[in-house]
Amino acid sequence: MPCVLLNLCEYDTQKLVKIKSVKLGSLKWTLNGVILMFICIMLLWNKGYQEYDLVVSSVTSKVKGVAKLNIPDIGEVVWDVVDHSGTSQGKNSFFVATNVIVTQNQKQANCPEVPPYGKLCRTDKDCEKGFSDQYSHGVQTGACVKFDVMKKTCEVSTWCPIENKKRPRPALLASAENFTVMIKNNIRFPAFNYIRRNILPELKDTDLKGCIYNRYKNPYCPIFRLGDIVSEAKENFGDMAVEVKPYFYNLRGGVVGIQINWDCDLNRIFHSCLPKYSFRRLDEKESNKTLYPGFNFRFARYSTVNGVEQRTLFKIYGIRFDVMVFGKAGRFSIIQVIIYIGSTLSYYALTTVLLDWLIGTSCYSKEAKQNYSERKFESVQDREECFLCVSFVDEDKLRVVKKSRKKTLQQTKPLSLHQRKNDLASMRTLISVMQCGPSRSLPVQNGQSSGLSRNTDTPLLEKSQSGCQAWCQCGCCPPSATLHEQLCCRLGKGRCITSSPILSTLILSRSVLETALFYVDPLAELHEGAQLRHGAYAQYIRWRFGDSTPRDAVPVIPSCCIGRIRAEYPSPDGKYGGLRLHQATPSQAEFNAQ
Ligand code: ZN
Ligand code: ZN
Repeated sequence: MPCVLLNLCEYDTQKLVKIKSVKLGSLKWTLNGVILMFICIMLLWNKGYQEYDLVVSSVTSKVKGVAKLNIPDIGEVVWDVVDHSGTSQGKNSFFVATNVIVTQNQKQANCPEVPPYGKLCRTDKDCEKGFSDQYSHGVQTGACVKFDVMKKTCEVSTWCPIENKKRPRPALLASAENFTVMIKNNIRFPAFNYIRRNILPELKDTDLKGCIYNRYKNPYCPIFRLGDIVSEAKENFGDMAVEVKPYFYNLRGGVVGIQINWDCDLNRIFHSCLPKYSFRRLDEKESNKTLYPGFNFRFARYSTVNGVEQRTLFKIYGIRFDVMVFGKAGRFSIIQVIIYIGSTLSYYALTTVLLDWLIGTSCYSKEAKQNYSERKFESVQDREECFLCVSFVDEDKLRVVKKSRKKTLQQTKPLSLHQRKNDLASMRTLISVMQCGPSRSLPVQNGQSSGLSRNTDTPLLEKSQSGCQAWCQCGCCPPSATLHEQLCCRLGKGRCITSSPILSTLILSRSVLETALFYVDPLAELHEGAQLRHGAYAQYIRWRFGDSTPRDAVPVIPSCCIGRIRAEYPSPDGKYGGLRLHQATPSQAEFNAQ
């Protein structure tokens, strides 16, 4: 029982429509082939068959080079790597000085503040003892002293003389572009336990000795010329090192990134794991437009002369090189292949979408579209909505109309039109049964033939009885109270369908109705007229609607025909059920039950 309640005993599967068409079949396989090709290309292109791991790396660098420079106030000095590389800048970076401001022999003393930082003063009252802020070079003593011939500034207690920024100076270390740096980079891909370094094992000692990196000639040499690095970053070493303008003087530096990219394929067949170097400037290039351009830092060397501590202050401008390592390694993995295949299966639905669209549009074939949509789409209506199917004798198609509460069924506009298909097979069976059927039916047939003339008269009789309804076009329809029963056999004015001899033969003939009844249930017992009346209704529906009625629409028999059938097979008490809504097209079984 719970099995039934929870729908556990059921399995729902989709119903498919098979269209036998060479055109559609070949189009389907062509599209599937294209999709398969696309998937394969993407698999190879994106290496979707691989699992990946990201690089873990360490970098060390060693700058080499000696430069002779002429520092004002000091004279010519030779700087080696210890001098020009300054203090260590960080784990993955190195620094090369390109310019320097040296302030020699600073001692702790009182001296005038440098104008842009200390305000100008006239008397001691303008200065505040003990004052200092973040721009100050020292703590004010409260005195106003001469800075130069024209200006007076507040005196500060600090390292004197104060560093002077105003002396213009060309790139002292322009030759630093010829310095070289050796970068050692060890990498590891933990998931694959794979270790490698940028000094490749394939390279011989002779290859490495004295080599200089060149993108084309020597792309795996780990020794770089600084000038090359800067020019590969599309910068000018001289510009980066220093910029002198006639009115605005700006010592600059910068930050250049050295990117090492490892894109490794660790499969045996396609094994490759080589570093690729690229360079770019990391700080803002248009830095002369900002307040704090370039890159610089200070350091001092201390000494004691005659018991007094002195220092030499170096403000160093230069270029910092940051080494950044990126990388991933891939290796074939069957799990990745399965995941990839799974993720691409949905692309095959595109074929269905495209073909359905093609059939849906009239580009393909109108008949195929009609046929296909009738078989593929089964429209089901909610019970609340009632659709009726109407067949007029002077119209070739069946109409599906919505039951209206205001208009007569005759006047209701159709929602859709359907092609009528005549049920010729069952008609043929019926006729053949009538022609060479059981001998018992013959006298009835004969008897009926006399009634045939009577039947043709009856409509005229009824017409005079009923009078003409406003909605009736044939002049034979009896009055009806309900709107959905007010239906004539015709759309336009003309002869009534009841005047046709076939109606008498096919719908009203007792022998035909009995034959149809026994055809369905050979052992049925005939004991009331209602059976034949309902049989006549069903016979009419089968004749006029055949199999063409849409599933959810109720076929409606015109008022004149109902009147005719009731006149032939009347109910003893004069009461009739009327049109039953929500009923499907009468099947053989229902015909029997009615
Ligand atoms: Zn009528
Ligand atoms: Zn009629």
